[in-house]
Amino acid sequence: MTHSVYWFTHDLRLSDNALLRRACEQSSSISFIYCIDPEWFKSNRFNCQTLGEQRWAFLVKSLHQLNSQLNARGQHLVVYFQAPLDVIDHYYSHHNTRVIYCSDQIGLYERQSLTAITDKYSEITLKQSNTFTLYDMHQLPFELSELPSTFSKFRKKVESSNLSIKSPVERPSYFPAPLIAPVPWPKSLPKVEQVNCEFDAGEVAAQHHVEQYFSSSAPSEYKLTRNALDGMANSTKFSPWLANGNVSVRQIMHALQEYEQQHGANDSTYWIYFELLWREYFQLYSLRYGHQLFAFSGISANKPLTSFYSGRFKQWCTGTTPYPIVNACMKQLNQTGYMSNRGRQIVASCLVNELKLDWRFGAAYFEQQLIDYDVAANWGNWQYLAGVGADPRSGRHFNLVKQTNTYDPENTFIKRWRGDDVYSIDSADAADWPLSS
Ligand code: FAD
Repeated sequence: MTHSVYWFTHDLRLSDNALLRRACEQSSSISFIYCIDPEWFKSNRFNCQTLGEQRWAFLVKSLHQLNSQLNARGQHLVVYFQAPLDVIDHYYSHHNTRVIYCSDQIGLYERQSLTAITDKYSEITLKQSNTFTLYDMHQLPFELSELPSTFSKFRKKVESSNLSIKSPVERPSYFPAPLIAPVPWPKSLPKVEQVNCEFDAGEVAAQHHVEQYFSSSAPSEYKLTRNALDGMANSTKFSPWLANGNVSVRQIMHALQEYEQQHGANDSTYWIYFELLWREYFQLYSLRYGHQLFAFSGISANKPLTSFYSGRFKQWCTGTTPYPIVNACMKQLNQTGYMSNRGRQIVASCLVNELKLDWRFGAAYFEQQLIDYDVAANWGNWQYLAGVGADPRSGRHFNLVKQTNTYDPENTFIKRWRGDDVYSIDSADAADWPLSS
């Protein structure tokens, strides 16, 4: 008799989850659990918390959806408001659990949590597999320690190796009996606030969005529209669901390949794959560099020349800087939990170059706010823009006037998000925009 635990993390779905299938096939009874760590709500050294209101609301909805799907199969999700090690300790001591299933983890802290469990309990068998990336490690034409130093080199190697993408697997057809009876959600969990979010959380909503996206003509125009600052159809908007694992990247690639077979491939459809490869690169980058992902000097040998001005950081966070385009993007983020890729590049460049702040504060604020927060994509992109990551050009300085003229020539975006309420910093003239090369 195997009494197991399936610990959901960034794989909040039933379909294309090979590990979940394996857990169901191999267990006589099983508990499906999710651990909400109280640490996520405490202020960290960057004066931010891991999970802000928008992210929290999105996650809670995803968990409820997952629970409903499990209920329809005679099972349920048990949600804990405790550190994972304490939860596992409870199963070990009270339910004789010796087998735990958990997806491969990309983030350093998540990997350390798993190591802490196996170090503490030699009798526990941890069963893992990849549910998050396009390719499995063993498919790649290099060892992790030899991860190419730039995205371009990585992409060329991957493309020339013609790697196959595994077909998505079906949902488990059978679910073992619950190991424990349903438990109400802990009363001490933080309240979910009303948020203004355009994204509906959970696997059902994710599958619906992917189907809708590929039944429109948007994929054939993706490359032309992806840089827009606003607009649901201008980029794929897969990121919140990918980050939570409501859909797998393989399911998306499968849908993209079907679309190309039916409607033809072009630069735009290729570019969706190209961006998913960026995602893939950063996942490997996080695995390769571990704690350096969060280091001030990143993976470079030099620390950036920045300082810390708490007033400037607050202005950046609240969208009250002298720069309308930055303010509009930050207000969009604060209200919706989402910002376009172009917006992210603009505000990150401003934080580093105009406001001369430590890039890690920006990354920590994004971590708190973004409903699509992904440890690897977020910290990797911030390093890249701050010139301490995988960027051969060593830092990117976006000219804010030029960006506004190109991406918001009529000031429509700025007006919509009230970015033109500008404030000076350090008593500088608000109209005095710094112009960079
Ligand atoms: P699309 O343009 O439609 O791209 C399709 C998918 O490709 C995305 O869903 C995403 O999975 C992937 N992708 C696209 N661009 C990138 C990129 N530059 N790096 C990695 N993957 C990419 N993305 C996150 O998912 N989570 C984050 O926490 C995150 N933080 C970022 C921080 C900064 C400073 C910057 C510049 C970028 C960040 N990105 C992050 C990458 C990118 O901005 C978002 O993935 C994208 O805006 C999400 O919208 P979309 O799904 O419509 O993207």
